[in-house]
Amino acid sequence: MTDWVAGMVVENRRWTDRLHSLRIEAAVAPFKAGQYTRLALDIDGVKVARPYSFVNPPQEPVLEFYFNSVPGGPLSNQLLAIKEGEPIWVAPEATGFLTLDEVPEAEDLWLLATGTAIGPFLSILATEEPWRRFQRIRLAYSVRHGVDMSYRERLDAHVKERPGQFDWIPCISREQMADSINGRITTALADGRLEQRAGCALGPEQSQVMICGNPHMVKETIALLKERGMQKNLRRAPGHITVERYW
Ligand SMILES: Cc1cc2nc3c(=O)[nH]c(=O)nc-3n(C[C@H](O)[C@H](O)[C@H](O)COP(=O)(O)OP(=O)(O)OC[C@H]3O[C@@H](n4cnc5c(N)ncnc54)[C@H](O)[C@@H]3O)c2cc1C
Repeated sequence: MTDWVAGMVVENRRWTDRLHSLRIEAAVAPFKAGQYTRLALDIDGVKVARPYSFVNPPQEPVLEFYFNSVPGGPLSNQLLAIKEGEPIWVAPEATGFLTLDEVPEAEDLWLLATGTAIGPFLSILATEEPWRRFQRIRLAYSVRHGVDMSYRERLDAHVKERPGQFDWIPCISREQMADSINGRITTALADGRLEQRAGCALGPEQSQVMICGNPHMVKETIALLKERGMQKNLRRAPGHITVERYW
């Protein structure tokens, strides 16, 4: 049995000098929105593999991933340079629990992402399930600089298609920008600006929260939500918080 599926890059879109997305053709097994797979390249005779979240929803046949090149990082810098038509290895099966299957029923769904962790939420929002299940969906998307806020047009399209049901809140930590919260998601959650901007309260009675990305943000946010009486979702004990850390 083969461990890897041979894929081909069909697009390498540069968003900034450090952010890019790849579209890849590869015959992989079906996955759930919010899951991740592993991508690998042969570098100096060694297969170097890392986990990456699907940006495309399961119904779209071309796979999409969104990347940050990490200074000195072995795989991310090679992926930045990869060209259309070049080969890439993709793991045959997806994995991960940042999916709506893990999220109990609630009135509202909050999606909290830093940087490239917007990817799994774009996948989830491109399916029908969240729109069917939740009265309101609010997404907070945190980056350092405004230029790093990729995929705005997809989020704006959801706002247009689902007025009132969906809104997204840009949080920019290292510069002031109009229509954005200046600061981190955690600060805006703690001081009430996040809910004020979202137009709805976040709490255990009405909300489910999915958090993805920077492990410091994930940890601090969980601590803040626990102060509100919210708990992680466990199979044996449903709570309110579903999480994925990127490192
Ligand atoms: C479940 C899961 C899903 C992931 N999905 C994505 C994704 O969709 N897109 C993506 O870009 N990365 C994602 N990552 C991170 C990815 O797997 C790699 O770690 C990253 O691309 C860097 O790879 P590298 O080989 O260059 O360096 P590595 O040796 O893997 O990492 C070096 C260091 O870089 C830092 N780092 C890792 N990832 C990031 C990041 N995204 N942003 C800033 N700093 C980082 C950490 O401090 C890490 O210790 C995911 C990780 C996990 C665990």
